[in-house]
Amino acid sequence: MNIISRAEWGARRPRSRSTVTWGRRTEFIVHYSEGPTTQSVRSIQDFHMGTRGWSDIGYNFLVDVHGRIYEGRGWLVVGAHAPGHNTSGIGVCMIGQDGDATPAATRSIRALYDEACRRAGRNLAKLGHRDVYATSCPGDQLYAWVRAGMPAEKEKEDDDMPDYVSVGMNARQDLPPGEWVTVNWGKEYADSAHHHWDKGGPSFIIGPARYALTANVQIEGLAPGTELQARVIEHAESGSDIATGPLAEYVASNGATFLHYNVAADMVPKGYRVRFQVVQYGSKTGRITDGSAKGLVWST
Ligand SMILES: [Zn+2]
Repeated sequence: MNIISRAEWGARRPRSRSTVTWGRRTEFIVHYSEGPTTQSVRSIQDFHMGTRGWSDIGYNFLVDVHGRIYEGRGWLVVGAHAPGHNTSGIGVCMIGQDGDATPAATRSIRALYDEACRRAGRNLAKLGHRDVYATSCPGDQLYAWVRAGMPAEKEKEDDDMPDYVSVGMNARQDLPPGEWVTVNWGKEYADSAHHHWDKGGPSFIIGPARYALTANVQIEGLAPGTELQARVIEHAESGSDIATGPLAEYVASNGATFLHYNVAADMVPKGYRVRFQVVQYGSKTGRITDGSAKGLVWST
C-alpha cells in the first residue's frame, strides 16, 4: 500500500499531537469531506487549522477518487474527526461529496482498514461517521458500502458499489382527487449511471437492478384529514405500468402535508423503470409543491 506522506503533500507542522496505542484502537470510522473531489489535502488542513482552530488536519488518512491515499495524522495520533471516538477510532476521509465514491476510492479505504486490523492484531469495528454522531457524513452512497461490510472489489470492480441517483422537483403538479399522479423530477443532483432516464421526467431507476429508495413530497391545498397514498410503479418501455409495493398511507394535516416514502429493498426487471406516484381522496384538487427522491441502485 502506497501512502503519500505529509512531506510529499506539503503538510504544515502540527501545533501539538497526542498519541494512542494500538490496544486502544477499536474502531475505523469513514467520512467524506463534502467538498469537491479536486480539493487538495493541504487546503483541508488549512481549513481545519485555521477556521476550525485545530492542531492539525482532523483525519488520520484521506483517500481521493483516484484511490490515492494521503497520510493525515497517521495511525496512532489522536484525531479530530468524531467527538468521543478520536482515541478509539481511526478516521478516514473520502475527498468528495455523496455519490463521488469510486471503486478505486473504496478499494483504498478497504486497504487502510485491512492494514489497521493487521497492525492492531484484531478486527476493528467498521463505522460511518453517522453511526457515532448526528451527521449525514459519509453520505448515503459511502455509508451503504460501509454497512454492506466494506466489500473489497477485486476482478470485477463495480459489483458491490451502488449507483447513486438523486433528483428533485422543479415545477408544481396538480393533484386531483382520486387520481394517481406520477411525480416528475425536473432537477438532477446526482446520477452516476444515467438512471434518470428522460431528462426532467419521472423515471429515476432503470431495470434490471436491485434498489433502495426514499422519496419526500410536500402537498398543499388539501382539507385536514384528507387521506393520501403513495407507491412506486414499474413503467414498461411498452407503456404499461405495474403497481408495486409498498403502498403507504397518510393523512393531510393543517397547512402543508409531508409524505415520507421508503423502499428498503426491491427489484426492477429488465425493460422497466421505477416511478413514484401519489393519490389523494379529498373533494378538491391539491398541489404537489416540492419533492425529492434518492436511490441506491445495484444494476444486475
Ligand atoms: Zn465525518
